[in-house]
Amino acid sequence: MKIYLANPRGFCAGVDRAIEIVERAIEKHDSPIYVRHEVVHNKYVVNNLKNKGAIFVDEISEVPSGSVVIYSAHGVSQAVRKEANDISAIIYDATCPLVTKVHKEVIRRQKNNHQVILIGHAGHPEVEGTLGQSSEEDKITLVESVNDIRELNFSNERDISYTTQTTLSVDDTAEVIEALKDKYPSVQSPKKSDICYATQNRQDSVKEVIKQSEILIVIGSKNSSNSNRLKEIADNQGKPAYLIDSSSDIEDQWLNDVDSVGITAGASAPEILVQEVVSYLMSNGGQEIIEVEGAQESVNFPVPSSLKN
Ligand code: SF4
Repeated sequence: MKIYLANPRGFCAGVDRAIEIVERAIEKHDSPIYVRHEVVHNKYVVNNLKNKGAIFVDEISEVPSGSVVIYSAHGVSQAVRKEANDISAIIYDATCPLVTKVHKEVIRRQKNNHQVILIGHAGHPEVEGTLGQSSEEDKITLVESVNDIRELNFSNERDISYTTQTTLSVDDTAEVIEALKDKYPSVQSPKKSDICYATQNRQDSVKEVIKQSEILIVIGSKNSSNSNRLKEIADNQGKPAYLIDSSSDIEDQWLNDVDSVGITAGASAPEILVQEVVSYLMSNGGQEIIEVEGAQESVNFPVPSSLKN
């Protein structure tokens, strides 16, 4: 059995930075450190940080006054920021800089009186954070599908612009954007630099890997948006695909009569989990490991200066 490894895969610069912020904050302050929401959507990473002294909470109301609070990589609404300020928390912001760029752009467009449309999945923390950049009276409209675009009834006279959740499928988003442009020809697009390089690169690399593989294994947690989108690329091509947290989730029957397995990892899944899966497969019929070359990445987001040594 041949094992094809997607490149790039796993951690992106935003996830690297978020984890480093939590680790450095734990070193700098006495435990406990409160992290609002899972800092990144990965069980292994979250458990590791819990063991080091991080406490994950869903709401700021669960945090005692004056504590250290870290916002997750997905970003937070203005209301959450206010709530944290109100309890005099010491705050570190692990929001990915690419998500922060989206927030700034949304605020700028709204100041210019635009109706902003966000393409994303309802309930995802990044979407809640972006929706929460607007005021009550000037709401951002969330759309999830081409059907939602049909329901929109804004006047064509109005300035309209859109932005997207960073971890969506590039292909699915393209369909929704096309429908939006059909309905509102003068709709304004986000800046090119607002598109997440890591999402695009990981999706491109999976497309290469599944050309050569009968099945795809995606290492990532079930609540990881970008990992689910990677699995969907194989699903859409009719290839069996499995989203797993670790090698212990692999079922023997997946590998029956399979000569080639593609492997990738979501942006929040560490390489150690990939290597465990590769070792498992090599002990269960694997004969050759092939790294499939893809885009080179050199993006690095520094941690806040207050956490530098
Ligand atoms: S996937 Fe993109 S937007 Fe999300 S944390 Fe990584 S670099 Fe940032």
